[in-house]
Amino acid sequence: MQTKNNQKILEFLRSRQQEMTDLLVRLVNMESPSDHKLSLDVQSDFLAAHLRSLNAGVEILAQPEAGNHVKAVWGTGPGSTLMLCHTDTVWPVGTTAVRPASIQGDRLCGPGAEDMKGGIVVSLFAMRALLELNLLPADRRLTLILNSDEEIGSHTSRQVIEEETLKHRRVFVMEPAVPPGAYKTQRKGVGEFTVKVKGLAAHAGADHAKGVNAIEELARQIITIQGFTDYQSGTTLNVGVIGGGTRSNVVPAEAWVEVDVRVERLEEAPKIEALMQGLKPHDPKASLVVSGGVGRPPLIRTPQIAELYGRAKAIAADMGIPLDEASSGGGSDGNFTAALGVPTLDGMGVVGDGAHAVDEFAVISSLPERAALLAAMLLED
Ligand SMILES: [Zn+2]
Repeated sequence: MQTKNNQKILEFLRSRQQEMTDLLVRLVNMESPSDHKLSLDVQSDFLAAHLRSLNAGVEILAQPEAGNHVKAVWGTGPGSTLMLCHTDTVWPVGTTAVRPASIQGDRLCGPGAEDMKGGIVVSLFAMRALLELNLLPADRRLTLILNSDEEIGSHTSRQVIEEETLKHRRVFVMEPAVPPGAYKTQRKGVGEFTVKVKGLAAHAGADHAKGVNAIEELARQIITIQGFTDYQSGTTLNVGVIGGGTRSNVVPAEAWVEVDVRVERLEEAPKIEALMQGLKPHDPKASLVVSGGVGRPPLIRTPQIAELYGRAKAIAADMGIPLDEASSGGGSDGNFTAALGVPTLDGMGVVGDGAHAVDEFAVISSLPERAALLAAMLLED
């Protein structure tokens, strides 16, 4: 840790707080729902141009249907740190017309302000500080990936993220902090299943006995599925969406549920997948179709991750910035990178609250602080 540089970096970034705020306002006001290629590509082009102005080697990873991803590289030596940001939000086109970026005291409110456009601003300005202060290490490579589909499972970006992960020594994920400012050193794995029951339709009055009631069968399955929850192991299953039947006077031929799964331990994922695939109908005349799985493995707090966090904590203390660590029940691209055995620090983005909710906000004064922490961490060997 270089104490002298820490203060220089922090001062530089604090003097840029207004510029950081302006950029975040601009990004929040750019629509970018995961399923809207047109708007995602506009934002990607804007960010690519910004990255070029920061002397990065920039590549647009064009996608046929998903929004384009962007890769930026600084330096030519062996891969040091991979930074991850996602450009998509959960907010549909039209949201910013109703609810544009607004500033209320130290809060910047608006769709994606915290998750994770704030993290994009933090990354860009951390790189700017290193460049303008002539601190950018010449002997190593830093890479930033901005992917467009994190909120819907990173299906088109997972491969490039995993390939780049294996070329770097560590991964920093710029997802928002856990309030009031913690890095995430542990995340649950996340999965989703759909269970469909097929029964047999019949007249509820005339032929009740001939029918096979798919809703009754599903009701029994739901009890079983909810019963796979094991708080001791950190495993939860949540039957969250249900549907089925046509009219009350018809024995329902079909019913279905969607199930959210969270696992804390690696070995729980295949266990739950086997339990779900092993579901058997109570009524032999009914049939079940189970699909889905655990898409994101858990991010486990390894000794390497703890060590990395320890360095960040020391830098934060030196800068006089509060920093803590926390675990999260939600998944991110950090789940993929940590599962490859590459130490991953997550939640390094902006401080705020209300992700995916209408009251989402980023704490403005945290922008320079988090960027300073990131910049100093990028200087670590
Ligand atoms: Zn996010």
